[in-house]
Amino acid sequence: MKWEIVIGLEVHTQLLTQSKLFSGASTIFGGTPNAQACAIDIALPGVLPVLNRGVVELAIKFGLAIGAQINSPSIFARKNYFYPDLPKGYQISQYELPIIEGGHIKIQKESENEDKEKVINITRAHLEEDAGKSLHEDFHGMTGIDLNRAGTPLLEIVSEPDMRSSEEAVAFAKAIHTLVRWIGISDGNMEEGSFRCDANVSIRRLGDKKLGTRREIKNLNSFRFLQQAIECEIEFQKYILKTGGSIQQATVLFDSNKRETHVMRSKEDAHDYRYFPDPDLLPLQISSDWIEEIRASMIESPDLCFSRFIGSEIESNGKVTYALSKYDASILTSDIDTANYYEEVVKIIGREDAKLCANWVIEEVIAHLNQDNISITVSPVSPKQLAGLILRICDETISGKTAKVIFNEMWGAPGISADTIIKEKGLKQISDNSAITQIVDEVIFNNSQQVADYCSGKEKAFNFLIGQVMKKTKGKANPSQVHEILKERIKKR
Ligand code: ADP
Ligand code: MG
Repeated sequence: MKWEIVIGLEVHTQLLTQSKLFSGASTIFGGTPNAQACAIDIALPGVLPVLNRGVVELAIKFGLAIGAQINSPSIFARKNYFYPDLPKGYQISQYELPIIEGGHIKIQKESENEDKEKVINITRAHLEEDAGKSLHEDFHGMTGIDLNRAGTPLLEIVSEPDMRSSEEAVAFAKAIHTLVRWIGISDGNMEEGSFRCDANVSIRRLGDKKLGTRREIKNLNSFRFLQQAIECEIEFQKYILKTGGSIQQATVLFDSNKRETHVMRSKEDAHDYRYFPDPDLLPLQISSDWIEEIRASMIESPDLCFSRFIGSEIESNGKVTYALSKYDASILTSDIDTANYYEEVVKIIGREDAKLCANWVIEEVIAHLNQDNISITVSPVSPKQLAGLILRICDETISGKTAKVIFNEMWGAPGISADTIIKEKGLKQISDNSAITQIVDEVIFNNSQQVADYCSGKEKAFNFLIGQVMKKTKGKANPSQVHEILKERIKKR
């Protein structure tokens, strides 16, 4: 039996404003419990919510970035349920008329030998407030409530059920994560709860038109858990259907230790929440002037940046620009700081050497950052310094091999330039023909056996001879020159 997997995601991303969605209390993470909960957040009688304009602006940015429709008006609605961390007894959200409808996002399917693009459609994105938090840790045997998070602005992004594997779901979540940070509407910090996903999963027989019954896995706060939870859920649903059972719609939690999902509650329907328009808040009107103002202020999207990096243009001087592989481009556009770093290097070196720059940023800078677990914004080697090093490869002052040694030194001694190291350590490449010829002749004289071997057809012997020249010059001879001169001198004999 062949099964088709169907996944739709709901992503909750915290919008990056200093104050809350409907109150002036601070949204900063990690405060003393309840120190950032004002009268509105704790729902004292008689208080009224006031919409934060900054939140709306960030939501509009998202809508524009995914090519969606920005609704005006949009309506705030009360979603009624009882829970200790929700003192009002309802969450202010949007239901029938969300601020954003439609739009799409492209994902790159990461498979080994083919990279394919797929478009995932967005159903809607709406504004809503976060709830508080129950604290069960040692609290004299009681549970405490921290309302610091209550009223924190969230954008809930809902996808169509367009994904067909856990890999696609993760690629989608990552694409949204990249986008919201790129356009500066969220810090996307998953450990602090600023970015979490619910995954709706169902399976159906391949070829079936009707979607299967879904179960929704709540609150996944890492890409690894998202992938694992979906895979567990798929295994579970296959097992149930294969053994003649049927899937009951439910909301489930993922236990990452036991690697299983278990039911939290049988699925509630929208009518259980008794949604109705919040009478305390007017319909939200957004002028097209404001939208255009925001559009004009927006930077190039990660999608367009990616397309630019993989595209090739022939400049007037006949040189090809960028033309990076999709693999390189996706790494360099994984966040805006990396893309900016790379572009700064290319600006100095020139676009015709974009590939060389990409190699250095990916293989050296990013690899070292990962090793030290630091962000590119605090890289010990700045874009300017890296460019200074690459320039010396381009003008053949040093070989690529020597450059790697120099890079390691630069990494350990922030601020030092490649030129300083080259000068201090005397690493300048020997490109003087007569100097190299002299050393080549010495090597030929001292290694007559290997020369004879090479002449009788043993290619390996040639590499040995090159190695000897490099050794004598402490790696400083220009390798391609050594190659040429060695061939020529042996031929002459
Ligand atoms: P809610 O979860 O609030 O009831 P919806 O019914 O609109 O909201 O669905 C939410 C998510 O579930 C969407 O991302 C949608 O794509 C996805 N979804 C809906 N039906 C299915 C299904 N049969 N299989 C997988 N995902 C689904
Ligand atoms: Mg849901």
